Amino acid sequence: MQVIITRVIMNSKPMIYEYRVSAPRKDFYNITSEVGEAVAKSGVQDGIAVVYCPHTTAGITINENADSNVVRDLLLGLDKAFPDRPEFRHAEGNSTAHLKASTVGSSATIIVNEGKLVLGTWQGIFFCEFDPPRDRTFFVKVMG
Ligand code: ZN
Repeated sequence: MQVIITRVIMNSKPMIYEYRVSAPRKDFYNITSEVGEAVAKSGVQDGIAVVYCPHTTAGITINENADSNVVRDLLLGLDKAFPDRPEFRHAEGNSTAHLKASTVGSSATIIVNEGKLVLGTWQGIFFCEFDPPRDRTFFVKVMG
């Protein structure tokens, strides 16, 4: 995975940070450090950070960062919960990815305290790719 900041939208106060994710496979990509970087760049000490994904077959979630088997099990559980079905009508053929994206949601809001993300010891922020391979975008807005 490669995550790079591509743009800082300056006509917005506070600024919006735009990142690009190259997502070659169905996976949860850990973006915690990039979100922390956006918080640091913003200079906000106390407020909230919103991480937002503008895609219909990808999402954002917060879950365990310590044991990588948790992400593996989440992916397995989502595959079991939302198998491809012959009844699906969506012509693109990726309804299962749309279902998973709606399940995890398209954003996360994290409290910022003393310039740092307030996350539990085991928590990480993940970009969830359900319809690879794709080049994706996510946004971080930090409000004080
Ligand atoms: Zn589709």
